Amino acid sequence: MTRLRPRQASFLSPPALPEKQVMGVLLPLPLAGAYDYKLPADCNAARGLVVAAPLGTREVLGVVWGPAEGAVGDNRLKIAEPLEGAPVLPEKLCDFIDWVADYTLNPTGAILAMALRSRGAFEPEARRIAYVKGETVPARLSDARRRVLDVAADGLARSVPGLAEDANVSSAVVRGLIRAGALQPTELPEFAPFPLPDPDYAAPTLNPDQEQAAGVLREAAVGGFSAHLLDGVTGSGKTEVYFEAVAAALKAGKQVLILLPEIALTVQFLERFARRFGMRPTEWHSDLSQKERRRAYRAVMRGEARVVVGARSSLFLPFPELGLIVVDEEHEQAFKQQDGAIYHARDMAVVRARIEGCPVVLASATPSLESFVNATGGRYRHLILRGRHGIAELPEVRLIDMRNERDAPDEAARGQWLSPPLRTALEKTLTAGEQAMLFLNRRGYAPLTLCEACGHKFTCPHCSAWLVEHKYRRRLACHQCGYEIPAPSECPECHESGTLIPCGPGVERVAEEFARFFPNARYAIASSDTMHGPAETQAAIRAMMKREIDVLIGTQIVAKGHHFPQLTLVGVVDADLGGSDGDVRARERTFQLLHQVAGRAGRAEKPGQVMLQTRNPGDAVMQALACGDRDGFYEQERVFREAAAAPPFGRLVAIVVSGANGEQVREIARALRKAAPSAMDVKVWGPTPAFYALLRGQTRERLLVQAAKTVDVQAYLKAWLAPVKVPSAVRVAVDVDPVSFF
Ligand code: ADP
Ligand code: ZN
Ligand code: ZN
Repeated sequence: MTRLRPRQASFLSPPALPEKQVMGVLLPLPLAGAYDYKLPADCNAARGLVVAAPLGTREVLGVVWGPAEGAVGDNRLKIAEPLEGAPVLPEKLCDFIDWVADYTLNPTGAILAMALRSRGAFEPEARRIAYVKGETVPARLSDARRRVLDVAADGLARSVPGLAEDANVSSAVVRGLIRAGALQPTELPEFAPFPLPDPDYAAPTLNPDQEQAAGVLREAAVGGFSAHLLDGVTGSGKTEVYFEAVAAALKAGKQVLILLPEIALTVQFLERFARRFGMRPTEWHSDLSQKERRRAYRAVMRGEARVVVGARSSLFLPFPELGLIVVDEEHEQAFKQQDGAIYHARDMAVVRARIEGCPVVLASATPSLESFVNATGGRYRHLILRGRHGIAELPEVRLIDMRNERDAPDEAARGQWLSPPLRTALEKTLTAGEQAMLFLNRRGYAPLTLCEACGHKFTCPHCSAWLVEHKYRRRLACHQCGYEIPAPSECPECHESGTLIPCGPGVERVAEEFARFFPNARYAIASSDTMHGPAETQAAIRAMMKREIDVLIGTQIVAKGHHFPQLTLVGVVDADLGGSDGDVRARERTFQLLHQVAGRAGRAEKPGQVMLQTRNPGDAVMQALACGDRDGFYEQERVFREAAAAPPFGRLVAIVVSGANGEQVREIARALRKAAPSAMDVKVWGPTPAFYALLRGQTRERLLVQAAKTVDVQAYLKAWLAPVKVPSAVRVAVDVDPVSFF
């Protein structure tokens, strides 16, 4: 790692410092609070100043956070040095970090760590040497040399390989000209600047609904804080509409952040942005290299990056002039960070917008119930786009009752997941030369392998989870921790061979069945699987785009955002998956996912058809999907949640106690429960084994706090947890507003 360079070496041995330069410096570590450091007398030690702070034998980045605590004697204080160029985190970002820490009950330093994701951005900038045309022109010029000088005649600075390539000569020719003084060196910044998006590059003509929503957002983009729910079916033009807000913010000289679930951060989106604004936005997500990270972070901090499109972590970037936040697919669970500091990026986006004094736009075809309640209750502006843009119509949704279709008693029916009506529809679609999609939210070949002779089930030794068969790779794998074994040839329990049977379908198995029925159809599997790899998935999606395949068989990775104009049939193989695990959001999630999948069908001129295979056709979720009655479903769900005092009408906090020693974990969990103070309108449930009672070798116990809306749960939890002593081998993770119960 490169060392951080302090401004000037002389500050390493400063004279005695005036007292006011002792400041609280926050380190990006999960420590209780800021530490006191001395700062050089002549620097502006204001909140946000980034410093290099000694910590033990290391040197870490830190940020001046506020006045000193004064607990440590002056002569024992270490000295923190401002960095070269004295970079400063915007004060509003510091306020945001404090707010998030307070709300999520994380140490402030752990939140700061998310805002300092690129240490490299604070390191001295490398310079690139480039060459421009010099004063001297050699007396005799070869053809090759002349070509180089002709290229350089425009005055632009180029690298040696750049010049060689542009002039179509070897780099030796270029170096000869440098030696002769005909080319002169000059320094360029480490990175080329990000090009500026042009708000007027290709503005669309909006339809009346879109125009109305865009008008509200354009006005909001130049006002203070406001929150909007942009609500419209897939294909109604939500993206086009929020692009208008982006354009307005750009014209007002502001920076823009567009948050997408990681899964939607595709080349497709970036290109779509480029078609509207003339260039790609700045990206921020987990796939960036250190170098790309450094470039993007610096550009954001200096205000050179005007529009950032990123995953949830981009919410902590140091925008100096943030003027708009968009959260697309706001209902997505991917916005909730589940490990490390637990937070919900959609909720925190609203907070950041409030602190920045700028608008926030939440967009979805299937909003979270929280946002729906906020919008219908008047806290957010509800911007509705009614129909699909153009002539595209919403697909017809048909329920297929699998109780009638699949209970054929004969052996052949076993391992059969595509019902006759779905097969007939597939046949018609293929004959018509159109495309189809089969959706099953389960990776691999079969979710469970069972021994027919003794009943042995293959489970992960580190997790309370079954091993999933991946047939093409001939392995059984744990989807929780990645543990794998080669597919066994005999039962490890009774040592019979030929007794192991796969139970239930995964996408690979559906594909196998499909190929049996349609041997001539071209198909591909797309799965969010590390087994298949993102490159293969992207290739499958591209093949679908280019019509190189007829059928795409996939997990939820195919449900989101893609626009396949020739796709007219969507078959959901098992619509009941994930519908009944006792989680308050299970119904909402099933509805959102299936609605999203259904929305892939018939996005262009040809009408689409959706078939949902279910064993509960009477279920409210299935009925709402079949009748296209989204708001009816939301209303029903609202009533249900209100009666149960569930979110957003009540508050939940989950506490997961985990550790390698099961006995110790259970003991701490019980002790925690005993220490819970009693308070009005607060109930504490548990401890009980978590859904994954064993995960990556860690035993897990859960407690759940349920409180009325009026309760200050943060204060309650602080009062509860602060005095409890937890051994270092046990971890207590607090999840405020949990969205899943795993
Ligand atoms: P959503 O974000 O609601 O799913 P999109 O913004 O992606 O909808 O719009 C769906 C499709 O319709 C896209 O291909 C988009 O370019 C096109 N579209 C939407 N509105 C317009 C418009 N006003 N003019 C031209 N094309 C539009
Ligand atoms: Zn057996
Ligand atoms: Zn496992």
